[in-house]
Amino acid sequence: MYLQLKKYHRLNEAFKDLRKSGYFARQNFQCCQSCAWAAIPEEKEEKVVFYHQQDAARKEDNEMYIGWSGNGKEICDIFAKHLIDTEWDGNENTRILIKDYKYSYGR
Ligand SMILES: [Zn+2]
Repeated sequence: MYLQLKKYHRLNEAFKDLRKSGYFARQNFQCCQSCAWAAIPEEKEEKVVFYHQQDAARKEDNEMYIGWSGNGKEICDIFAKHLIDTEWDGNENTRILIKDYKYSYGR
């Protein structure tokens, strides 16, 4: 159980941080892109970060795509603060790939 908790510690911290920065940030949120976007309250749609259950199927691979709206650069910076790598072409219609989020700091 302890290891299990530690495993996604940085990912959890990053999502916490995103919420602090005003994002509607959810993990394991709904089954797919369309259900996720449909479930986001209208007043929150401007600043969103999530991965849904189909994305989470890849979670163990240590890389997965996130859905987002808001400032992509800011989102990548927040992940970087938690030593999580991102891959994004700067296009607001492209999903951001997050990588290397498994395990705690120092591993
Ligand atoms: Zn769905």
